[in-house]
Amino acid sequence: MNIFDCVIVGAGPAGLSASLTLGRARRKIALFDDGTNRNRVTTQSNGFLTRDGIKPMEFKEIGLRELSHYPSVHFFKKTIQNISKYRSNQFIVKTDDGQSFISDKLLLASGIQEHFSVPNIRDFYGKSLFNCPYCDGWELRDKQLIIIADKEEHALHMAKLLYNWSKEFVILSNGNKFSKEGIHELQKRNIKVKTETIKNLIGDNGYIQQVELTSGEKVNCVGGFVVPSFYRPNPFLEQFNCEINEDGEVITDGLGRTSCKNVYIAGEIKRISSPSSLINSAADGYKVAISINHDLSEERF
Ligand SMILES: Cc1cc2nc3c(=O)[nH]c(=O)nc-3n(C[C@H](O)[C@H](O)[C@H](O)COP(=O)(O)OP(=O)(O)OC[C@H]3O[C@@H](n4cnc5c(N)ncnc54)[C@H](O)[C@@H]3O)c2cc1C
Repeated sequence: MNIFDCVIVGAGPAGLSASLTLGRARRKIALFDDGTNRNRVTTQSNGFLTRDGIKPMEFKEIGLRELSHYPSVHFFKKTIQNISKYRSNQFIVKTDDGQSFISDKLLLASGIQEHFSVPNIRDFYGKSLFNCPYCDGWELRDKQLIIIADKEEHALHMAKLLYNWSKEFVILSNGNKFSKEGIHELQKRNIKVKTETIKNLIGDNGYIQQVELTSGEKVNCVGGFVVPSFYRPNPFLEQFNCEINEDGEVITDGLGRTSCKNVYIAGEIKRISSPSSLINSAADGYKVAISINHDLSEERF
């Protein structure tokens, strides 16, 4: 059986960065990834200093190439299906093709995923509809846009943020009611709010052109932002009874240690209320790797 110092689930920026730091610290690492990173739907990642505009796949390839210089880091392109406690202090990790790996530490860097309430949004998400203005606002500056937000507080937040990139946008609540005050605040800035349910998104090859409402009205646009809800795709945190607060945020010591001994988290997995970014996740992976290495050093000295 393969025995590792740490198994890392997820080779996004968080898991890659943690693997690099732990590999350089001479720890034996098994890093797993199944290619379901949520940014795989987009063609460019922006805002990571020295990598502005890079393709998500290229980012991962460069990260994995750098890891290949460290012989104690082992990468597996596999899905982790099951993780359970092994003996008193270890974990046994099973892949969907039946392989088992034993590890002293477990780092969950497996990210989050989106849930959308609008039909066929996936046809446009990542090409002309996005979630984060910091990531994609620059490319959509001064264009005719939409904001799709089910909740008024999200719509107001996104409107205030987007206003500096473009002042020409329509807010679509997709059948949800907003307060008179909220609508008034937006209308004062000439921002239209449509509360009808969205019937269909119309466009070509990922590029949105119109939103069709159930009333038959069509709203023209060339892109926009959507506020999805987020969830964690794996049950591992719950299985190990890691503490999660009422906002869905995993409780840690600020350095990635969860309330379950030897289980650590890094990156976007921490919060389902607000997603992160490549650079934040990478920085978090570095920070949490230091915690893991520190704990291993203390335990084994
Ligand atoms: C459309 C879109 C555009 C974006 N644009 C930008 C941008 O321009 N700039 C920016 O900074 N950010 C951008 N982001 C956000 C960015 O992608 C995330 O913030 C970042 O990838 C989070 O990093 P992470 O390492 O925490 O998680 P992820 O990158 O999501 O990595 C998690 C990894 O875990 C793996 N995984 C999950 N479960 C398992 C399992 N059971 N077994 C094996 N592997 C598993 C997945 O395959 C995935 O690769 C964008 C996101 C989207 C959706």
